Amino acid sequence: MHAVCVFCGSSPGADPRFLEAARSLGAAIAGSGRTLVYGGAKVGLMGAVADATLVGGGKVVGVLPRALVDREVAHRGLTELHIVSSMHERKRLMADRAEAFIAMPGGLGTLEELFEVWTWAQLGIHSKPLGLFGPRDFFAPLLQYLDHLVAQRFVRAEHRELITVEDDAVALLERLAQHRPAPAPKWIDSSET
Ligand code: AMP
Repeated sequence: MHAVCVFCGSSPGADPRFLEAARSLGAAIAGSGRTLVYGGAKVGLMGAVADATLVGGGKVVGVLPRALVDREVAHRGLTELHIVSSMHERKRLMADRAEAFIAMPGGLGTLEELFEVWTWAQLGIHSKPLGLFGPRDFFAPLLQYLDHLVAQRFVRAEHRELITVEDDAVALLERLAQHRPAPAPKWIDSSET
């Protein structure tokens, strides 16, 4: 696991623990000699995780669609900044360049990015590990809803468990590096209980 893709808010959020978490993840990525792949913005938690990785001596690859260069303020101090033509191209390049995905607190964009790579894992399109990093109480309602989807038999328990939840950045990276997802069929058969 050489490069880790991080999805997180383009806003800092309401709780100072979010920025602290972003900085600790950047420091852990740099400290473990890994590369950060992310959306290329200078704002919010995105900017914080990138800055912390750079300060720790790590490499950072940013991927930003041209239309968002001004809106999300392109980070000009990165090891590599790729300006691409669409959101789809951005997500493809980020996914191709990383061996693992981590989502942190964020908004609609973060959720969309997380659920895309999660559904790709569910379909066997990739077998890269997925992590959720940040204060546990922040993620509790989301995890509760996912458990509800499992109970209602829309999501298989194995697919729900594809994500590793941690509030310590170093521990999360170690767990993701060891993770070997087990293949499971996508569809829940009506004969299954
Ligand atoms: P947010 O979590 O909404 O602050 O957004 C975090 C990142 O996700 C930002 O870089 C957004 O540009 C990006 N984003 C927003 N919408 C989408 C989308 N539909 N697909 C992929 N990324 C998105």
